[in-house]
Amino acid sequence: NESAPKPHVAFLPSPGMGHITPLYELAVRLVTQHNFQVTFFVITAGSTIAQDSYITAYPLPDLHIVDLPLPNVSNQVLDEMTTVARLCYVVEQSIRPLRSVINGLKRPKPKALVIDMFCTGVFEACKDLSIPVYSFFTASTFLLTFSLYLPTLDYKGDGEFVDQPEPVKVPGCTPIRTQDLMVLVPKSMINEYKLWFMHVSRLSMVSGIFVNSWEDLEPVSLEAVKHEPFFVDIPTPPVYPIGPLTKQVEPVLSEYAKETIAWLDEQPRDSVLFVALGSGGTLTSEQLTELAWGLELSQQRFVLVVRKPSDCAISGFFSAGRDVDDPMAYLPDGFVERTNRIGRVVSSWAPQVAVLSHMSTGAFLSHCGWNSIVESVKYGVPMIAWPLYAEQRLNAAMLSDEVGVAVRMPVVGEGGETVMVGRKEIESVVKAVMEGEDGKKLRKRAKELEASGRETLSRGGSSYDTLARVAESWSIKT
Ligand code: UDP
Repeated sequence: NESAPKPHVAFLPSPGMGHITPLYELAVRLVTQHNFQVTFFVITAGSTIAQDSYITAYPLPDLHIVDLPLPNVSNQVLDEMTTVARLCYVVEQSIRPLRSVINGLKRPKPKALVIDMFCTGVFEACKDLSIPVYSFFTASTFLLTFSLYLPTLDYKGDGEFVDQPEPVKVPGCTPIRTQDLMVLVPKSMINEYKLWFMHVSRLSMVSGIFVNSWEDLEPVSLEAVKHEPFFVDIPTPPVYPIGPLTKQVEPVLSEYAKETIAWLDEQPRDSVLFVALGSGGTLTSEQLTELAWGLELSQQRFVLVVRKPSDCAISGFFSAGRDVDDPMAYLPDGFVERTNRIGRVVSSWAPQVAVLSHMSTGAFLSHCGWNSIVESVKYGVPMIAWPLYAEQRLNAAMLSDEVGVAVRMPVVGEGGETVMVGRKEIESVVKAVMEGEDGKKLRKRAKELEASGRETLSRGGSSYDTLARVAESWSIKT
């Protein structure tokens, strides 16, 4: 029926590029491939320059960005909070008026609200409005299986299971070394863990869970979510793998970023190592110095994103895209001059997808945030895994031990502590990946996944069809 309004779906991501990007890309697909109209709510209290420029870069007529009103929260209170606590608090305050905002929309009632994992405070409002809630779990399916199982594994919610020497076993999945869980379930950050625990405990209440993944990337976990019982007496919600979804366009590049791309244009194919630690990742000053030396000693070409060093590994999260005054100030004296022939230093934020999709980029030293992984694999780029925070150690282990597209930098100690890596070790890992036999194997595997990612997203491919089926179910629902 030509005159019937297009079906309408609403989205609500929490702040942070890693949360916004996959939800926004799903929204774009619904509009451009499945004839939907979308309302995309934005929690402005936590927005960053990077986020704002991304979602406003290429407006679409049926994709309506709606800012949620800024809650009355003091910056001083926020500044004193840890990242996850701040994120959860900002979300909680911002979604208070959601019911009236949805009621006030001049569009048909949404067929669904798609949230990310930190926005589970919407259930009551959505129940009142009879809008089903879907989660877009923006991390790996592997973390999803662990999260679904967490209330059973840790029914007290105190994280004691990380004290056991033996690996943690999630039904149907590869056992997890407790060292790799220490950052996610840290005794020193028990309040952060409790917040995360609360959100993932509510996953059983959603109507469906999207993941930015596909069968060839995560065969084991995707099988497990289909067949394993994660909850007592309640079925696991259906899980929809619809990846690899990545930014299709980079917002207008800064002059410096443009120069970096122009420089890449002149380098040989697969010859450049891209070094970037996500939207918020930071190294200590000592570790950044060693990394710079390691790169210089390796004599491999590189693009290095530099942020102000910090003892807190996630310190850049709420300032993503804000340029640091002078990245050179944090690097060893003379580094930029000495490496000018082989490398480029970018301040704080690089056009990551443009770099990863460039022919000259041959490997990615990454903090292993899930979006970074999906972007790297989508463009056939092998990785050096340097996990920093959240579930990144699990991702690093999976990429190296199961998927075979990464080597791990030895940054995790036997007791789960973060270990400083010296310049010599960095030099040798970088050389092995850029010019050794190991690198060839990783690159071959990455190229296979690149092809499979392309296939799954094209018409008739599994991710395309999965989304088409969900979209159809939304279109016909009254
Ligand atoms: N990103 C970018 N430029 C940078 C750093 C990050 O464009 O210099 C983007 C990156 O492409 C990815 C997102 O920010 O889409 C980071 O998400 P990820 O899940 O990898 O890590 P998080 O920042 O959530 O830890």
